[in-house]
Amino acid sequence: MNQSSKDGPPGWGDEKLARYEKQVRFTPLGRDGQVRLLQSSAVIVGCGALGTVQANTLARAGVGRLRIIDRDFIELDNLQRQVLYSEQDLGQPKAVTACQKIQEINSQVDCDPVVTDVDFTNIESLIDSYDVVLDGTDNFETRFLINDACVKMEIPWVYGGCLGCEGQTMTIRPGITACLNCLMLDGPPPPGTTATCDSAGILASIINLIASIQSLEAIKLLSGNAEAISRHLQVFDLWGHRHQQIDMTDLRDRVDCPTCKQKQFQWLSGDLAGHTAILCGRNAVQLSFPERPMLDLARLAERLAPLGEVELNPFLLRFQVGEMTITLFPDSRAIINGTEDLAIAKRLYSQYIGA
Ligand SMILES: [Zn+2]
Repeated sequence: MNQSSKDGPPGWGDEKLARYEKQVRFTPLGRDGQVRLLQSSAVIVGCGALGTVQANTLARAGVGRLRIIDRDFIELDNLQRQVLYSEQDLGQPKAVTACQKIQEINSQVDCDPVVTDVDFTNIESLIDSYDVVLDGTDNFETRFLINDACVKMEIPWVYGGCLGCEGQTMTIRPGITACLNCLMLDGPPPPGTTATCDSAGILASIINLIASIQSLEAIKLLSGNAEAISRHLQVFDLWGHRHQQIDMTDLRDRVDCPTCKQKQFQWLSGDLAGHTAILCGRNAVQLSFPERPMLDLARLAERLAPLGEVELNPFLLRFQVGEMTITLFPDSRAIINGTEDLAIAKRLYSQYIGA
């Protein structure tokens, strides 16, 4: 007997839907919405605090296909807010660990981990054919890049950012709503001019709130409930009990946005891109080289072994040099812990890995 449902595609009978029963009972979503969710896909860019909450929520809700992109590995001070990770995961790449947890939570979800730094050379191929993009990043450079790519490719995306106990979020639907550049016509705040999570700290509650809203906005969109999507920039100060909703309905009409009106994609073209970054609150620097060929980490491990302590797994190589640690990824990208000085980081890289 065919166990398939009355309405959904074959194989999506009550058995497969049983785990979503409480969600299906919520009338605006319903059975049709659930079936749509199972057929839908989302990319999570950055799987730290916001990203782990998004991945957890979307996987449990039954979004059929997730791609999780993150450039980093798990550290002890992540565990205070990054809900998919535990002590045993320290040192592992976030994207890979997150997908392993997702498979344990919901084996119906197809989860694709990508350990890389999203930049202008790879973003289009990374989000191509996905239905929505969720912002789990911690920097405006990547957000403006996501905005460029999503506006160009007409993929909706959900912005979110948190600092201290404050956060904000906005859903961007290319061609329909204002985009991030409409909101910030002068571009991102210059480095060093705003507080970072290093100086302001960050509390898990604001992360959970903002990422929950982002996830719900994605679920509305993916389940065929686009009319329920917010047209506001929502701003929260949880510590001070303040909530502002700023209406963005007319913003796109009022400004001559270079991105969504003039279709100039400066971030995507690489004109504004940087290949190095001082990582937020980490005493670390990232160096990346998008044009370089892939590294043979096993061979490099052999070469470095006589010089210091080397740790190697399929996803990364870690090398201790005095007080500093170099973590190398196969795409030749490195995160150098123990310094915020770009010159020192570059010198170490060329000394041990190659110029
Ligand atoms: Zn715009």
